[in-house]
Amino acid sequence: MKIVVHNDNPDRWCRALQAAFPRATVVTAEAPAEVRRGADYLAVWQPPEWLLAEQTQLKGIINLGAGVDALLDNPELPADVPVIKLRDAGMAAPMADYVLYGVLHFYRGFDGYDHQQQQARWAPQPLPDKADWPVGVLGLGAIGRHVAQALAEAGFPVLGWSRSAKHLDGVDCRHGEDGLDAVLAQAQSLVTLLPDTADTRGLINAERLAKLPPGASLINPGRGALIDESALLDALGDGDTPGHLRGALLDVFSTEPLPDDNPLWQHPRVWITPHTSAPTPLDGAIDQVIRYLHSFEAGKTPTAVNPDAGY
Ligand code: NDP
Repeated sequence: MKIVVHNDNPDRWCRALQAAFPRATVVTAEAPAEVRRGADYLAVWQPPEWLLAEQTQLKGIINLGAGVDALLDNPELPADVPVIKLRDAGMAAPMADYVLYGVLHFYRGFDGYDHQQQQARWAPQPLPDKADWPVGVLGLGAIGRHVAQALAEAGFPVLGWSRSAKHLDGVDCRHGEDGLDAVLAQAQSLVTLLPDTADTRGLINAERLAKLPPGASLINPGRGALIDESALLDALGDGDTPGHLRGALLDVFSTEPLPDDNPLWQHPRVWITPHTSAPTPLDGAIDQVIRYLHSFEAGKTPTAVNPDAGY
């Protein structure tokens, strides 16, 4: 068995995979071409086109992250090789922390107190009842469902939305266009944890932002492409004058790193983190990839990404 690894920490990955499969050849993409070629598996994050193009006998490609948009967009991705992605692998818990922080930021009014502090203004605001603060979670996958349930456990009414119908304890699950409208109509905070696909790109546009209640907030740790950034800026309003939306906590952007001149950086009601809401935990990810490789070698292909659906 030959495995080629490409990510930002390939040596650590090679050591772990070599220990799990002592008879395998495990190399990084830095190895000489004659050593890399003829791999059975690629374990990769955002691989260069040449790494995919040079392989001729792959049994599987393992995406070392939950989002497969970059890999599916790679023009050299072979159509007949199953792509397997990380499913939770320890990312769901830090993502739930991030989202809970975001929801509490707006629910507890830290945005307003931030502003008041700049004016040395002491003005306690009423604390809303959590029952009056429904949170919408778009995407109920391996990570989204955990986030939705963590919010429900924290006491918020949670409406979830996915492509297929679902039942999740503590979450009012919706699907379809009507389901999305129902979520948008109620969400005081909207959390977007959808993959970037042909169907979800630009989903949160001006029309859908306008369907949120006035004063709603947006938390996007999913993918930048889900949001129409200029519609978001319009909805947030200018300077000291809030628009339809109260604020946004954003972790992901259409262009990353977010360019210096992007107006989101300077917006007073936008909080930005640099795509760090749920870093892939190394040990959990390595364990999952080892399980995937054992399945492949036992003749059982792990659940693969559906290239038509894009996730
Ligand atoms: P999954 O693939 O497990 O789940 C995707 C969810 O989105 C599913 O519930 C799916 O519905 C739903 N969905 C997909 N397309 C549509 C659609 N057209 N309409 C409605 N619902 C749709 O993904 P994960 O939960 O693992 O991760 C979600 C995303 O979070 C990733 O794709 C990635 O972009 C992002 N992410 C970001 C990180 C960060 O650090 N910022 C870290 C990890 C992930 P159904 O259940 O019916 O299939």
